[in-house]
Amino acid sequence: MKPPPFAYHAPRSVEEALTLLAALDGAKVLAGGQSLVPLLNMRLAEPAALIDIGRIPGLDVLEVADGHVRIGAGVTHERLRRDDAVAAVQPLLRRALDLVAHPVIRNRGTTVGSVVHADPAAEMPAVVALLGGTLEVASVRGRRSIEAADLVRGPLESDVAPDELALELRVPVAAPGTGSAFVELSRRHGDYALAGVATEVAVDGGRIVGARATFIGVGTGTAVLDLSPAVAGRDAADLDVVDVAAAVAGFVEPQDDVHADAAYRRHLAGVLAGRAVRAAAADALARAGAGVR
Ligand SMILES: Cc1cc2nc3c(=O)[nH]c(=O)nc-3n(C[C@H](O)[C@H](O)[C@H](O)COP(=O)(O)OP(=O)(O)OC[C@H]3O[C@@H](n4cnc5c(N)ncnc54)[C@H](O)[C@@H]3O)c2cc1C
Repeated sequence: MKPPPFAYHAPRSVEEALTLLAALDGAKVLAGGQSLVPLLNMRLAEPAALIDIGRIPGLDVLEVADGHVRIGAGVTHERLRRDDAVAAVQPLLRRALDLVAHPVIRNRGTTVGSVVHADPAAEMPAVVALLGGTLEVASVRGRRSIEAADLVRGPLESDVAPDELALELRVPVAAPGTGSAFVELSRRHGDYALAGVATEVAVDGGRIVGARATFIGVGTGTAVLDLSPAVAGRDAADLDVVDVAAAVAGFVEPQDDVHADAAYRRHLAGVLAGRAVRAAAADALARAGAGVR
């Protein structure tokens, strides 16, 4: 299908974009267009105007500074995924991005756009909720920082107001002694997952001292589950079986849909979380062994 008619604006500065967002009722920011354009084509969204931020200089910052990865609103998933300096200090970003869509979509889709879009099946909002950090946003009313925990209000609803432009995401680098993993199951590689889990595990003296997880596709939004009671004290190098199914089953709230029923998704979330904790513990040991601090 074709999209409904809309006015198109391509501002050359942040200030111009903010003025347009304030002046135009029903305007939407267009970043990579990989979520918005399909919604337009399916007539699920009918914005009066699109404000294309692709020509605004300065939104392409990608660097590690002051203990954070700074990801500008113009940075594509693929550029972030390929950045070795970022992967060295916060490997979970690359691990999750390996699972996001296909190269052609990652080449246009932006990580900031994904977080603002707040799709409950998307990997990056779950990763940001787990790792923490902030999203810097601006409007003609001024600038503010949104904490990761406050970013997603519900399915496809973020805390970014209609007249606000998200400028930059800041994600903390991995703390010493931590490891991470993203594990998901999808019918085909690159599809949205039936269920998935991001984990961060802290290890001290070879023993697990903390474990946290966020999920996708199982109705939890971006809430963080503390798995420490289930795994703390265990030998990080001897985790053949990690049984976190009971903790996960009491946390997730999956729904039946055409792809899978709720019982299957609940079971899957528990299995994937166990695998993710094991992989994250191994990662913590490997990073410690490699002298990564
Ligand atoms: C076939 C297909 C498969 C996909 N599979 C996956 C997948 O497996 N996992 C996954 O996570 N994603 C997947 N995606 C979505 C992809 O990751 C998108 O790129 C991403 O969700 C949105 O980024 P974007 O830059 O394309 O945003 P856009 O589509 O341009 O915008 C999305 C929404 O965010 C708003 N927005 C964007 N940037 C800003 C900003 N800076 N400030 C304020 N508002 C903003 C827009 O107004 C819009 O409402 C898939 C997409 C397609 C087409």
